Amino acid sequence: MSWLLLAATLLGLSMFSLFTIGSTINPKNSVQQKASILKDVAEVDSWELILVNSKNVVPRDFTVDLIPFQNTRVDSRIADSLQKMIDSAKDEGITLSVCSGFRSVSEQDKLYKAKCLIYTTAGYSDENSKNLTSKYLQMGGASEHHTGLAVDLLTDNVTDLDEGFAKTPAYTWLEENAAKYGFIERYPKDKSQITGIDWEPWHYRYVGEKNAEAIKSKNLCLEEYLQDMYSKPKGFG
Ligand SMILES: [Zn+2]
Repeated sequence: MSWLLLAATLLGLSMFSLFTIGSTINPKNSVQQKASILKDVAEVDSWELILVNSKNVVPRDFTVDLIPFQNTRVDSRIADSLQKMIDSAKDEGITLSVCSGFRSVSEQDKLYKAKCLIYTTAGYSDENSKNLTSKYLQMGGASEHHTGLAVDLLTDNVTDLDEGFAKTPAYTWLEENAAKYGFIERYPKDKSQITGIDWEPWHYRYVGEKNAEAIKSKNLCLEEYLQDMYSKPKGFG
């Protein structure tokens, strides 16, 4: 019996050591990593890192300097990077087209209500309709499209915004190259619990090249990046 106790104690001690070693090494590495990344990236107050989600909504009078881009409009500060990304993809035989960019809060309200109506008409309760709609579409104020920094992309033979986009060469190209132009896949498949939005392989957000490269290399979503790197989100508080 005493041998059993001794063995259990030793096992407990070694588990404890493993735990304490692990917990002292990892944060140290992460602090070093953080410091080296922060050295190179924009300040959290930069317009590039604005966070918009259901908890950080834009004010109804939010304005942004827009520029026409294909059939939509985007923040004028990202137009060059977006065009460069599209041109570069084209050089490699990949077509990227922007199907939506900026949306005003009232336009978003209309889209949201129309989508909800489809579900209520199909017999869902108001609450379930809202929940189903919110998987892909945000209520007015909570959409990143209000910033003019987000775009939805389509490619050859893909005319709908659905997960089929992820099977295209365009998606593979974006996974590899979007960060070079300052864009991130904003709602990755494995981050929906954190972003609150289901996987949207077609939705890309401009955050600046250095932020995008850091987010990609650390495999974070924007919410995690802001929390991990700066301990605060840059919303409209
Ligand atoms: Zn979108």
